[in-house]
Amino acid sequence: WSEKTVAVVTGANKGIGFALVKQLAEKGLTVVLTSRDIVRGREAVISLQKMNISVDYCQLDITDQASISSFTAWLRRRFGGLDILVNNAGVSFNKIEENNVDHAEIVIKTNFYGSKSLIEALLPLFRRSPSRSQIFNISSQLGLPDKLRDPILKAELADENKLTVNAIEEMLNRFLKNVKDGSLVEKRWPEIWPDYSVSKLALMLYSRLLAKTHQWDRVNVNCYCPGFTKTDMTHGVGSHTADEAAEVAVQYILTTPSESFTGLFFKWSTKVNLP
Ligand code: NDP
Repeated sequence: WSEKTVAVVTGANKGIGFALVKQLAEKGLTVVLTSRDIVRGREAVISLQKMNISVDYCQLDITDQASISSFTAWLRRRFGGLDILVNNAGVSFNKIEENNVDHAEIVIKTNFYGSKSLIEALLPLFRRSPSRSQIFNISSQLGLPDKLRDPILKAELADENKLTVNAIEEMLNRFLKNVKDGSLVEKRWPEIWPDYSVSKLALMLYSRLLAKTHQWDRVNVNCYCPGFTKTDMTHGVGSHTADEAAEVAVQYILTTPSESFTGLFFKWSTKVNLP
């Protein structure tokens, strides 16, 4: 990696995203801090400047197609392409012990469809050389399929040959339908943070598909669970800080990406294959 390596981090005005930008910039990469809110983003850039860390900035709301398009055009003009995309932006509306699904649509729209739309827009811009490019999706162990309690759905999703983007989106539609008709318990969807868990499951399944599709196309796709981290998402509760979560992630992000370093899920410091 060098200062020519361009890394983009979404949802980076605070939390783990901010820590990732800081550490990647400290390692000497060219880093683009993005945020959905310009004021919060600029404040984050200023606080980095105060630490003598210089980064690029562009507004990016991953749920807004117009924002994705102008970001993509900006990135092409500014750098001609990118090498690393960290899909970090995410939402959850629950407190730790709360499992309501009042905001299920926005959770799925952000955590799955937002990241997917951005990946689709940026795929043609990945430079793939001199090193393989990387998509690094911040997921969660709550999104592992073992949280699903429906054996039929579990079997369907595990079948390498049957998994398609359509099948993932059908699962999400079914989930949102069950949210509306109040049958989440009966249909045995995940119990803890159901909407969030399903959104991250979808992101991991999609990552597995992408990794397979792009293995010979010099783009690696991996997922990472930062563990229980003290950020606004957890209302400041957790077993470690955002800086510590980012430190582990940066080690993976900066591992020289070989053909086999793809389709992986890093559960904190444990490496397994994507579900
Ligand atoms: P924070 O709530 O601190 O940060 C989330 C970031 O995402 C904020 O910058 C937020 O912006 C941004 N964001 C939300 N919606 C959008 C959007 N539509 N477009 C662009 N940015 C958006 O949470 P964390 O730092 O904890 O979370 C970072 C990632 O880590 C998430 O994907 C989360 O799911 C994941 N994660 C976190 C864990 C934890 O214990 N903290 C555990 C497992 C996974 P804004 O400030 O404007 O709201």
